[in-house]
Amino acid sequence: MRFETLAVHAGQSPDPATGSVTVPLYQTATFQQRAIGVHRGYEYSRTGNPTRAALEESLAALEQGTHALAFASGCAATMAVFSLLRPSDHILCGEDVYGGTYRILQRIISPLGITVEFVPEDAPESFAQRITPQTKMVWIESPTNPLLRVLDIREIARITARRGVLLVVDNTFASPFLQRPLELGADIVVHSTTKYLAGHSDCVGGAVITNNKQVYQAMKFYQNAAGAVPGILDTWLVLRGVKTLALRMREHSHNALQIAQFLAAHPYVQRVHYPGLSQHPGYETAKRQMYGFGGMLSFELAEGFPAAERLVQALRIFTLAESLGGVESLVCHPARMTHASLPPEERRRRGITDNLVRLSVGVEDVEDLIADLRQALQLAAEGDQATYDI
Ligand SMILES: *Cc1c(COP(=O)(O)O)cnc(C)c1O
Repeated sequence: MRFETLAVHAGQSPDPATGSVTVPLYQTATFQQRAIGVHRGYEYSRTGNPTRAALEESLAALEQGTHALAFASGCAATMAVFSLLRPSDHILCGEDVYGGTYRILQRIISPLGITVEFVPEDAPESFAQRITPQTKMVWIESPTNPLLRVLDIREIARITARRGVLLVVDNTFASPFLQRPLELGADIVVHSTTKYLAGHSDCVGGAVITNNKQVYQAMKFYQNAAGAVPGILDTWLVLRGVKTLALRMREHSHNALQIAQFLAAHPYVQRVHYPGLSQHPGYETAKRQMYGFGGMLSFELAEGFPAAERLVQALRIFTLAESLGGVESLVCHPARMTHASLPPEERRRRGITDNLVRLSVGVEDVEDLIADLRQALQLAAEGDQATYDI
């Protein structure tokens, strides 16, 4: 079956007991046992719940994996993957990753005696050169947050497979509609389902998908033992969201490309980061490994923080907020918001400047979105003019 059909039906067949067309919310903590130890597959909702099982089956199908596990947040899913590491192991992580992932590695994983190394270059050889006999895992995002850098997943997977290292891809920015890392050779896919999978900015969740049975069993043990499972309503909201994932991603991608082109031609914009622009350094790789370029982009204004602040204040349709991947357009200032936990010199080195603005382009009418950006850019630029006049 094709993606669109799986998105509607995988894991979500009518309820065998009642015929309910949508998966019921099994809002229960525990399950009756017919006799001691005799149950119908479910005992206690931390261990397993039918609504969660439906979501796990759906996500496994969408990512072309054999197993999936749902978690209370993307960070909880990330922790489940890091639970595979042991003291004296070495992990390589792409440097342009989600701020929360960086924080977990620096503040939780590194103190456990696990060596954490960030890889500043995107080239697959940079990962190859840093692999040691202690390297257990390589963790990457593509496209990355917030600079939309593109890493060659297939090439990196070739290297890790040869060296017996697990390759983990945080696929949150692309969603499985646009990119399926397991097909490209990755071992584990991580999602913040909070974003495109749920798609409506109404719940927080995470997931891990894999084809590796051993990895699955270790993380399944961790899921039950550590207990960061999603609530049932949140689980159900993701199940509802994924049904329209294909429709939404097409629209997000279409709108984002138009906006990227508009911004690239705007005199007050210095640089646009969007992998769908042919001048983007990751364009060719993205074309090869993705089925579309997605709804995320960032851009640099010609002037510094005051202009960025004026811009985000002047926007009327774009809402100033963290997060991404919902139907509504959001704007954020990475240096002061999502990446504020990075030390300033680290931010500067990575190119997360004070004039960088990130957009999560929603599914509103693209002409309305462009008009909103046009008027806000105008106001931001006029502010600079006023400063110069003084
Ligand atoms: C949001 C996000 C996370 C963390 O997910 P939460 O659901 O907020 O815990 C991880 N990776 C990426 C790329 C994200 O955007």
